[in-house]
Amino acid sequence: MTTQKTASPFPSVDRVARLPRVLDLCEEHGRTAVIEAIRAVLESYRARMSEPDYQIPDEDEIAGQVAARLQQRGSFALRRVFNLTGTVLHTNLGRALLSERAVQHVGMAMREACNLEFDLDSGGRGERDSLIEEVLTELTGAEAATVVNNNAAAVLLVLAALAYEKDVVLSRGELVEIGGAFRIPDVMRSAGARLVEIGTTNRTHPADYQRAIGPNTAALMKVHTSNYKIEGFVTQVSEPEVADIAHAHDLPFLIDLGAGSLIDLTAYGLPKEPIVREVIASGADIVTFSGDKLLGGPQAGLIVGKKALIERIKRHPMKRALRVSKLTLAALEATLLSYRNPEHLLRDIPTLRLLTRPLAEIEALAARLQPVVAAALGAAWRVEVLPARSQVGSGSLPVDVIPSAALAISHHEARSGAALNTLATRLRELPVPVIGRIADNRLLLDLRCLEDEAAFAGQFKQLQQLQPVGNAAASSE
Ligand SMILES: *Cc1c(COP(=O)(O)O)cnc(C)c1O
Repeated sequence: MTTQKTASPFPSVDRVARLPRVLDLCEEHGRTAVIEAIRAVLESYRARMSEPDYQIPDEDEIAGQVAARLQQRGSFALRRVFNLTGTVLHTNLGRALLSERAVQHVGMAMREACNLEFDLDSGGRGERDSLIEEVLTELTGAEAATVVNNNAAAVLLVLAALAYEKDVVLSRGELVEIGGAFRIPDVMRSAGARLVEIGTTNRTHPADYQRAIGPNTAALMKVHTSNYKIEGFVTQVSEPEVADIAHAHDLPFLIDLGAGSLIDLTAYGLPKEPIVREVIASGADIVTFSGDKLLGGPQAGLIVGKKALIERIKRHPMKRALRVSKLTLAALEATLLSYRNPEHLLRDIPTLRLLTRPLAEIEALAARLQPVVAAALGAAWRVEVLPARSQVGSGSLPVDVIPSAALAISHHEARSGAALNTLATRLRELPVPVIGRIADNRLLLDLRCLEDEAAFAGQFKQLQQLQPVGNAAASSE
């Protein structure tokens, strides 16, 4: 036993814990985490002991490893990135950025007690939805409103509450798949509703709706075909016509709008997207749309429409399972309040600000950053300013694209695919990872969504001082 102990090539956990450098770590991370890290580091050395080129670590090295492990385990998995994909509402990069007002309001709701379900007038119990119902009905023209976790949940809940074990009539041209497992036929089934498909992929007529209505019909439905467009010999029945047919049979007319804008984007030179107020005015009884698409707020599913129907939806047991947190409600309320101030809307709501950002401003930004990025990457790379096309993203306006400007980075070698991938990896390893996209043998950094120019330029300048990316990229192939 004794011989074995003295032969151990490792210092004890205690001994490492008393090293001055490790004592400093205790200050920062607490002793429990430090001891855990020391054990793990010593264990990993022990596990490698039988390897041929194994070397006994010295105390400095062990302390360094302990510090590295603590740093790694203390750092967040969720991190800020630069979204230079050109897609403003990028689902994988978090969709809408919240307004400063929303961030402040969420901060309040996190730090302080708040009247989430408490009626300050009566002193009795309140309802959390009532916090946003007034502004939401005002902005949409609907009688009532409620909110759940996302639009997928909104569609599911509406169908479960209004069409359980009943028929819902929907055109074949609108059997949408959004991605991420949201497919209208599957959502219908999960909600317990029966999908009655009418018409064909390209053409559906009023008579198709008329014929499909029977004793078991619960609703007529339209789904906004947000992420595709069918062109050519195409007819769909307009909202007012479907509303008339539904109401003649005393049935509700449901619309899943997807992005659903609260304002007319064409006023700012953007392509037409359905406006919630307009579809309500055209006779829809229930409209669902996302909080973090064109609205520019938090992830949420907004349900607006007729009071009696909204009441049924709110009473459904699934509503409790899908209800939103106070953080979501705070962010949503602040976002919606910005819409009461149209003059400042584009300034205050980042999604709308980025979508309407003047091309000249993006081009000027590109011209300023081109030399910075070129210098950082070194002589192996060519960095040009090129016209680009941004997208709204999240399935909105799939066909239309918005003129933008990009830094286009290409390698001087002809076969540069591997070097481009390496460069893309390097950019993702930056302190604030830079996410672009590769197209036509170039790495494109669309600058529409870059607002923090100083941070972006700063980390490229740092990169230049550390190591030229050009050499690293070229030599690794
Ligand atoms: C985006 C979208 C959804 C899903 O909305 P989430 O908020 O992502 O859950 C549903 N329907 C349509 C038509 C959409 O465009």
